[in-house]
Order: sequence, then C-alpha cells, then structure tokens
Amino acid sequence: MASTSTLHVWPIPAFTDNYIWCIRDSQSAVLVDPGDAKPAIQYLQQERLHLTGILITHYHADHIGGLKDLVAWGQSQGLSFPIYGPAAEDIPERTHALLEGDQVEFAQPAIHLRVLEVPGHTLGHIAYVADSAHNSGQPSKLFCGDTLFASGCGRLFEGTPSQMSSSLAKFLALPADTLVYCTHEYTLSNIRFAMAVEPSNQDLQQWSKTAHDLRQNNQPTVPTTIGHERRVNPFMRCDQEPVMIAAENAIGKKLNTSAEVLAVVRAWKDRF
Ligand SMILES: [Zn+2]
Repeated sequence: MASTSTLHVWPIPAFTDNYIWCIRDSQSAVLVDPGDAKPAIQYLQQERLHLTGILITHYHADHIGGLKDLVAWGQSQGLSFPIYGPAAEDIPERTHALLEGDQVEFAQPAIHLRVLEVPGHTLGHIAYVADSAHNSGQPSKLFCGDTLFASGCGRLFEGTPSQMSSSLAKFLALPADTLVYCTHEYTLSNIRFAMAVEPSNQDLQQWSKTAHDLRQNNQPTVPTTIGHERRVNPFMRCDQEPVMIAAENAIGKKLNTSAEVLAVVRAWKDRF
C-alpha cells in the first residue's frame, strides 16, 4: 500500500486544553469537534490537506464553535464537505444527523466509523468507533468527545449517573487495545482524583509518573486505550472492589450497582 493511504490521527491543540482530532492521510483530512476554526485551518494549510468531512460528538461551543468559519473557509476554497453530528442536538451547520448504529464512511482518508449514543455529559452525545475489522485490521479507534477522558469522565450536565454508566459500559465492551481519542487534556488533574479514590492502585501510580513526564515534555497524554482506562480510571472501574469500597466509605452506606457507585464517585470528583 502506498504511504498516501496510511492513516494518522493527529491532535490539533485548541483553547487551553482542547484537542481537535485530525484523522488524515497524506492528502486529506476529517476533523473531529473543531471548536475553533483557526488552529484547524492553520494545520490543514500547513500540511496541504484537503478537508473531506467533520464529525461532531455534541453541541457544546468548544466542540462546534469553529464550524461556521470552516464552512465559509471551505466555500472560499471551492470545498464542500459533510458535517455529521448527533440527531438529538441542535447544531445549525450539521448536514447529516446520526443515531445509534449509523455508519459513516470516508474514501479519503479511508475510514469507516459507526455511531454509539452515549448520553450523560449531554443527552444527545454520540461517539464514533472505527472498528479494526472495518479498517484494514488497524487497532480500533474511539472518538468519545467529553464522555470519557484519560483517567476521568465528563461532567453530568444533562444526563443521569445511570445513563453515563450505560454509556461507559459500551466503551468497556470495545477491544482492550482500542485507542481512546478524548477531547481534553485533563489527565493530570484526573489522576490526582483517581489516586484519592484508589491510593493503592499500582497501575495508576505508574501511569501518574508517565503522564507527568509526558506533560513536562509538552506531549499529549492521549490517546490511551480502553484496556488502560479499565486499569486506572475510577469511572471505568465502578464494578471493581477498591472503587466500590472507596465510594461506600465516602458516602457511609452500602452501594449495590455500578451506576450507584458512579453517582457517588462523580459527585465526589465534582467537589474535589
Ligand atoms: Zn462538552
């Protein structure tokens, strides 16, 4: 296969701690959640990439704020491209409304994705999964917006703990080597909280060192993997004894389900 078709996923930093993910080959690109058009256009121009589409996970301004300017810029370049987003949310520039199980396919860059509905952070939030089997055997990729973060999860602005618990369960069902492309660099503060929940988690202690080194060298801590999150992320471990016990101790009563544990851990993090 010629190198032109090799797929890369590149983080374009935006605002103070957002990443706009750029799914690209050597000539074309798809952007995920361009909250700001400026750094995205700068990257596309610098790399001489042809923008072929945009994927949106949810309607918050730091994820869709760049759409208007990207559409205008595209028109000035003679480009028109689809803008995919959740059907249940109000996104004026969206051209294709997506529901659970819908598929999105691009020829350039060559990628096939399917849609998961993952309510919690917002009610209409969706995620995109590029399954290994549909993408030439490359490791699966998850574009999860603000639902899952490295060692953390999104705030429950609209959904319930039970909805978030079901959404994270969909992620836990993905292969362990699935790459997780979340949209914020919140990792170090998430690790601080995770260590308060699970001070004896050795994987977490090791990860804390690695993540601090990465940030010290100005490197992103993402993508991580689903298997990694299963080991170090309290929100992906609500069925694991150390997290259950920590949550029970925090609230002083017995908890019976993962959703109940998640409710306690999320509220604890909100105050942390
Ligand atoms: Zn958000």
